[in-house]
Amino acid sequence: MRKPIIIANWKMYKNRAAAVAFCQALVPLLHTTEKADIVICAPFTQLDVLADALAGSAVGVGAQNFYPAAEGAFTGEVSLPMLQELGVRYVIVGHSERRELFHEDDMLVRQKVQAAYAAGIQPILCVGERLEQREQDMTVEVCSGQLLSAINGLTGTQLRTLIVAYEPIWAIGTGKTATAADAEQVISALRQAVAAQYGQAVADCVRFQYGGSVKPENISQLMAQPNVDGALVGGASLKAESFIQLVHYA
Ligand code: PEP
Repeated sequence: MRKPIIIANWKMYKNRAAAVAFCQALVPLLHTTEKADIVICAPFTQLDVLADALAGSAVGVGAQNFYPAAEGAFTGEVSLPMLQELGVRYVIVGHSERRELFHEDDMLVRQKVQAAYAAGIQPILCVGERLEQREQDMTVEVCSGQLLSAINGLTGTQLRTLIVAYEPIWAIGTGKTATAADAEQVISALRQAVAAQYGQAVADCVRFQYGGSVKPENISQLMAQPNVDGALVGGASLKAESFIQLVHYA
């Protein structure tokens, strides 16, 4: 039985005070036993205050990026041990904004996934196709290629804890959502791709999220799909009132 997981991706929004205010609004609204795991992935500069504000709650703290070396001459970069010091337990890897705007390729994404596991931080691996790839019927080929490349070399134990977000690029921040049926079809094909290589038992443990203009109005339909285990949410995660509705989608 896979536990649902709802993750906020704040991208490059908010300041420290706004991050704390969000948590002060959110935490009292959480149930003592939540059905879903909840994570907030914030900009680096907010991670310490976020961890303080969420201490004792069920909400995990995540980062949106890191460099896959423990330390070194990498001007401007931040390492996993530095993030761990701030209370970070999750990290987004391979988000399409990093692939497209910062030219992160499959090789770097794989290095990051491996580095995150080695450091004991849970990667949230994003895969997704561009609009033209979808129009050429290449969605499953592109996304399974990104996925299998990124997880190559992981152990069975690591794979069983994997979180993968299927995020069609054309649906991110555009208001266009893949239909729940589309999300289910792609995610079920991705699960099969993992099963073909690593066995059904491993594939059945992987938690697959959908991401791309998820909002309170469409979350329950998405979460009703048998292979959709959660959502990675950008825009609708920025306000505590809408994020709590996503967390309590049922
Ligand atoms: C995202 O940033 O991963 C995302 C899915 O954004 P949005 O929900 O705004 O489409």
